[in-house]
Amino acid sequence: MFDSLSEKLQGTLAGVRQRGALTEDDINKAMREIRLALLEADVNFKVVKQFTSSVKERALGIEITKQLNPGQQVIKIVNEELTALMGGQSAGITFSPRPPTVILMAGLQGSGKTTATAKLAKLLSEQNGSSVAVAACDVYRPAAVDQLIKVGAQAGATVYERGTDADPVDIAGWALDQAKRDGKDVLIVDTSGRLHVDQALMAELANIKKRVRPHVVLLVVDAMTGQDAVNVAEQFAEVAQFDGVILSKLDGDARGGAALSVKAVTGKPILFASTGEKLGDFEKFHPDRMAQRILGMGDVLSFIEKAEQQVDQDEAKELERKLRKNQFTLEDFLDQLKKIRKMGPLTSLLGMIPGLAGHQLSKMNVDEKELDRVEAMILSMTPYERRHPELIKGSRRLRIAKGSGTTVQQVNQLVKQFDQMRKVMRGIQQGKMPDLGQIMRG
Ligand code: GDP
Repeated sequence: MFDSLSEKLQGTLAGVRQRGALTEDDINKAMREIRLALLEADVNFKVVKQFTSSVKERALGIEITKQLNPGQQVIKIVNEELTALMGGQSAGITFSPRPPTVILMAGLQGSGKTTATAKLAKLLSEQNGSSVAVAACDVYRPAAVDQLIKVGAQAGATVYERGTDADPVDIAGWALDQAKRDGKDVLIVDTSGRLHVDQALMAELANIKKRVRPHVVLLVVDAMTGQDAVNVAEQFAEVAQFDGVILSKLDGDARGGAALSVKAVTGKPILFASTGEKLGDFEKFHPDRMAQRILGMGDVLSFIEKAEQQVDQDEAKELERKLRKNQFTLEDFLDQLKKIRKMGPLTSLLGMIPGLAGHQLSKMNVDEKELDRVEAMILSMTPYERRHPELIKGSRRLRIAKGSGTTVQQVNQLVKQFDQMRKVMRGIQQGKMPDLGQIMRG
């Protein structure tokens, strides 16, 4: 899904990610690349213009903070703006207090309307425990009624159908009566599509609407058709009211233009995404998760989020000062270790470190038990020893090993590794690249 867009945006953002400072030129260059990537993804050009100008405006106003470097902040901004572009919050269906809630499905022929009708029935009955019926009013597309009978039953819904000879408006009205009689919570009405938005289609929709007074009208558009899908949605929005969009065939959409433009162009949110041929391939649409998927940086983004929550600015300054003066002690180390461990299993955290994602180091298996041992050893030291690890020799070593249930060798190793780590960290402070291999070898 959205592979080429993801690749391009990731490429651009990878370029800024590690940057300690960004000039206006850097930002302009990144915006040009983002603009091109979005246009190539078939995003509506007005939407692209608006998007890049908001990102740029915010990027220019970035202030240096301890938590995130400017590159990371740009990623954060792009992520937030992408989320906003797709509607921000995820939207849902509002159920009528007087069941059945009637949902009308509209869309062009082949958009995936009938499939989506059954998928939605399945989702609502499974997730909300609703008893759902579907009405087969697509009498024009050959086999649509038979198809709904089949997939509707697979979805566990009651199917109301009267073949293909009856009038769709009559079928809809009759189905509503049946749903009331059967005490259904939800009735989903599958209507006929056409090849293009035309007057006959709109008139029929209007008549069905008049007859069943739907609580929710959903428009199904085929994501694979990109801007065409957006144009269809825009035409529908002009002549027929709808409340939200179902984006179908998202699994086959390598570009993402429809997903990114539909909300901005029509003002209507995407409520659901259909992502495959199977009935279960259907989900509530979450703009934030979609943005993360597009950026393909789930790891970096959650790192950013966690870093913001966890790192205290003053503390960071103090640590930096200690490192510079070589006053970083085992006590500080223990403190940091505890904080980091609070963020989650270390193995997953390694993959979140910018620049380490994909690196062989990030795939390293961190032995949590080993960390327990390290904590136990530091806790068995006196405060004085923690501040002066070089004193840990002979009997002190033995005492610490006994106290922590470890061996003298293990205590030795910790002290040695800590010393090495301090050197590396000082190196980083002075702008040298650490030799990661050396840290790992201990
Ligand atoms: P309708 O004319 O709008 O009722 O369209 P259909 O529901 O019959 O769907 C048209 C074609 O698209 C069918 O072959 C479906 O199997 C396929 N289809 C529908 N939704 C999806 C989807 O989310 N992913 C994929 N890959 N195919 C889909």
